[in-house]
Amino acid sequence: MKWIVGDVEIFQIVELEAGKIIQSIIPDASPENVKKMNWLIPNYADKNGILKALVQSFLIKSNEKYILVDTCNGNDKNRPSMTEWGNLKIKFIEKLNEFGITPSNIDYVVCTHLHFDHVGWNTTLINQKWIPTFPNAKYIFSKKEYEYWKSKPKKELVDDLLGIEDSVQPIIDTGLAELVKDDYKFDENISLIQTPGHTPHHVSVQIQSQGKNALISGDFIYHPCQVEKPEWGNTVDTYSDQALETRKKILSTLVDSGTLLLGSHFPNPVGGYIVKKDGKLIFKI
Ligand SMILES: [Zn+2]
Repeated sequence: MKWIVGDVEIFQIVELEAGKIIQSIIPDASPENVKKMNWLIPNYADKNGILKALVQSFLIKSNEKYILVDTCNGNDKNRPSMTEWGNLKIKFIEKLNEFGITPSNIDYVVCTHLHFDHVGWNTTLINQKWIPTFPNAKYIFSKKEYEYWKSKPKKELVDDLLGIEDSVQPIIDTGLAELVKDDYKFDENISLIQTPGHTPHHVSVQIQSQGKNALISGDFIYHPCQVEKPEWGNTVDTYSDQALETRKKILSTLVDSGTLLLGSHFPNPVGGYIVKKDGKLIFKI
């Protein structure tokens, strides 16, 4: 998949299919409840109410610079509580070749938040050491998000704490990280906006060019079903009240705005628009 937003190009890089795990993280999204939402079928759920979802990165090209948004799970990572997403052996980096580039061409890596499924490809295991995968990139992390995770919060998944150690700290230690404010601007087209709650300093990536707008969500929303049902929370939100507030607020700014929403875990065709139909919000291609 590819999208054009003014002068900016955005490409999809899929790591893996994630419907089962995403559905288990949204307890209200039972097959029975999902089946009642006809508009989800067939793109976002199957006729049995089983959600479709992905783990994916977005590659942005703006002003001849390449920005990689979120780096999925990565290979060879130890993830004891979510074993399906640990010890992967996926040809993910090879997919960059489809765009005529290699890891050394990436100018920026940005993580919307520091959960392990958004930081994985930051590093690669070479000779038992975690080495930065993108040697020429500036890795952009929210400073406050990094500080939160370095405090080793007890309420969080062990996999996320391991992700900090194997996929974030090595980047800091090699001097490739830039710890930024939550409203960081890459250039006149690309900036971060604050979407807290899923994690304390979660951000989304805003694209604005030639009067066209797009938003890469990160995990303030997991699945299109939460467009109609924003109150369907995720079990892994750090602050669920704030996450709900953010979801409602961002959806209300997107409705009928013509802004393309690219959902970080949304299944293909991934991109769409928030519109009001029969008094409710839906996600429409
Ligand atoms: Zn995620």
